[in-house]
Amino acid sequence: MSERDKFQCPVCLGFTLNDPYEPLSYDICPQCFVEFGYEDSIPLNDWNTRRDEALAERHAELREQWIAAGRPYGDDGWVLSRRPAPAAE
Ligand SMILES: [Zn+2]
Repeated sequence: MSERDKFQCPVCLGFTLNDPYEPLSYDICPQCFVEFGYEDSIPLNDWNTRRDEALAERHAELREQWIAAGRPYGDDGWVLSRRPAPAAE
């Protein structure tokens, strides 16, 4: 699969996804490392009333965090709080 067959990540905006973005796919973007349905989860009330808007806001927030962290890439870069730092060898 070439780059141009891929789909855009709503967080880092890279064309990194093998399948189109789905809110609860539990796919993980290989560039910004966000897991959809986990890091981009939104309150249930927002989900029921203004899902697209709330998701867009959440993605923008995650994008800002990723950019502020220097656009770290992949496993040893973008470590959100739930991800333990790689064990020192
Ligand atoms: Zn991404």
